[in-house]
Amino acid sequence: MALALDKKTYDLFINGEFVKPQSEKYIPVINPATNEEIAQVAAAGIHDADAAVAAARAAYAGKWATMPPARRARVLFKIANILTERTEELAHIEVLNTGKTIAGAKGEIGQIIELFEFYGGAVTKLTGSTVPSIPNYFNYTLKESLGVCAQIIPWNYPLLMAGWKVAPAIAAGNTVILKPASPTPLTALILGQICLEAGCLPGVVNVLPGPGATIGAHLAQHPGVDKIAFTGETRTGATIMELASATIKRVTLELGGKSPSVIFDDADIDAAVAGAVYGIFHNAGQSCDARSRLLVHERVYDAFIAKFVEKAKSLRVGDPLDPKTQVGAIISRAQLEKIEGYVGIGAQEGARVACGGTRPDGALSKGNFLFPTVLDNVRNDMRVAQEEIFGPVAVVTTFADEAEAIRLANDSVYGLAASVWTQNAGRAIRLAHAIRAGGVAINTPFSIHPGMPFGGYKQSGFGRELAMQTLDLYTETKGVVMYTGTKPVNPLGV
Ligand code: NDP
Repeated sequence: MALALDKKTYDLFINGEFVKPQSEKYIPVINPATNEEIAQVAAAGIHDADAAVAAARAAYAGKWATMPPARRARVLFKIANILTERTEELAHIEVLNTGKTIAGAKGEIGQIIELFEFYGGAVTKLTGSTVPSIPNYFNYTLKESLGVCAQIIPWNYPLLMAGWKVAPAIAAGNTVILKPASPTPLTALILGQICLEAGCLPGVVNVLPGPGATIGAHLAQHPGVDKIAFTGETRTGATIMELASATIKRVTLELGGKSPSVIFDDADIDAAVAGAVYGIFHNAGQSCDARSRLLVHERVYDAFIAKFVEKAKSLRVGDPLDPKTQVGAIISRAQLEKIEGYVGIGAQEGARVACGGTRPDGALSKGNFLFPTVLDNVRNDMRVAQEEIFGPVAVVTTFADEAEAIRLANDSVYGLAASVWTQNAGRAIRLAHAIRAGGVAINTPFSIHPGMPFGGYKQSGFGRELAMQTLDLYTETKGVVMYTGTKPVNPLGV
């Protein structure tokens, strides 16, 4: 079972330094695979949040915003290099803090390395435009940074989400206050230090662990914060939007999902089974874009479900640090119990528990583990098909034709992602256009690539990450209008 970290104490990272919280309060950080304490982390209060805002404002007014983009780009490339050098160490810490598999953690670090490189390259191509207009005018637009951005992230991908938020923000010349989720602050704090080492000025990246309900809410209302970028639950997103409204902050929200995998009768069934297994069970189902609803054509249902259940049962649940493990731990005992509660709700609603729903025994029973679970005979109006379970639970529903598949796929308050499995290219494109979701993957469970926009329709939020468009969400566009004529402009003839 997982090695313990040296029980380190982590402070807040403000203005390029690790500092103690004013309250001197520290909270334990727990390894979900063992439920043992692995570290103590400072809990920021409102005064610490004010200090972080002041540091970020000073860094913004200093040289960061006006630094030539090519120099900021070099800093982003250096961050990518340091992340590459420290991959093993960071992956190890991420596994101990989240219970995710070591293979998953290394893959995520690989993704953010590419993302810092992507935005390092992108920011040197961020340009305004000249706008054709009436004679005697030269009109153009400028892209300018926003200022101080508060970025609040969840526990399921601590370093990945930190990278998704910090990279475009600092590339565009903003400064940030990153608020990691309380259970998973460690790699975000280390990222703050890496940014400084790579050449970010002190105060450009501040990392503030602490209770979201107080400091997250405080940052959302703070007059010194220009933008709030949030990833987490839909209800929390709604609160943040409300809090941010008084100061008309820019807001982007990446929220929950209940994303479908739609499997047609003309699909390569083995490929669809393998993709659908990954789509729901990677990261133990704790992914906003998990393909948690399987919509299967009734003609291939029997063949599909038999193979899907067999593969789900064969997944190795175990020590997250063992490279052979495929399904790691759930973040907390409370989250595990919530997921088990949904399995019970599903059974009461008439679903069949085709596999899973139980915890492994032996050494793993100390941690928060659940066998991959498949709920079959599910109707799309059941709670297990409508509510986000956020665990390794797939719900399976059948459909009769393409129109019903589209109707079921869209019958959700969420609209984050979808996968479509078919060998009919026309059908694949029809589905991709008809599904109301921010991303559709055809014959693959993967829809996340640097450069491709990621984000939600409907109650999955608004704004996009990972793409060139994201830089628009971290900049203002200014219009400059200049008269070039020879006679004075005198509309009133005075
Ligand atoms: P939460 O919404 O509870 O928390 C997310 C973050 O918000 C945490 O840092 C939390 O701090 C903070 N927070 C909590 N309350 C407030 C508040 N009132 N004001 C400001 N900040 C607050 O979500 P979870 O951490 O539980 O993450 C799981 C959820 O996130 C799932 O619903 C999942 O679907 C969604 N998610 C969406 C993604 C997407 O891209 N669309 C990606 C990943 C997850 P603290 O931890 O201190 O409470």
